[in-house]
Amino acid sequence: MESTTSSYEDLAYQKIKEAGDNGIPQKDLIKELGLSTKEASLIIKKLIEKKKIIKRSVKENGKSIIKLFAIDDDGIDIYVSLSSIIEIPCYTCKNLKKCGNGSYISPSTCPQLSKYLLSNSNSAS
Ligand code: SF4
Repeated sequence: MESTTSSYEDLAYQKIKEAGDNGIPQKDLIKELGLSTKEASLIIKKLIEKKKIIKRSVKENGKSIIKLFAIDDDGIDIYVSLSSIIEIPCYTCKNLKKCGNGSYISPSTCPQLSKYLLSNSNSAS
């Protein structure tokens, strides 16, 4: 029985992996495996516990769909938004190379940096 479950696990993982970045809707995978919802849910749960797949709710055509995505063997992709970093004045400052503590141009006396920090501390509270 365990080897059968294991082979269904392999098959499920293969199908999820083949779906790539688009993922596969959970109900489509269950249909493709030809298992009962309960059996397929157990296999999906095992794959999630083994960190081989992740489950996400995705909006498509205004509907929320539960989709499954394979996690690369190389590791997990982490996405970082740089939008807040770009707002920091130092990011585009022409004096960046001359600026430093103890220098004539310094973060401790910079009006642009002070303005940025104050505006962000006000919005945080
Ligand atoms: S602290 Fe002011 S002067 Fe220094 S790099 Fe940032 S924005 Fe430029």
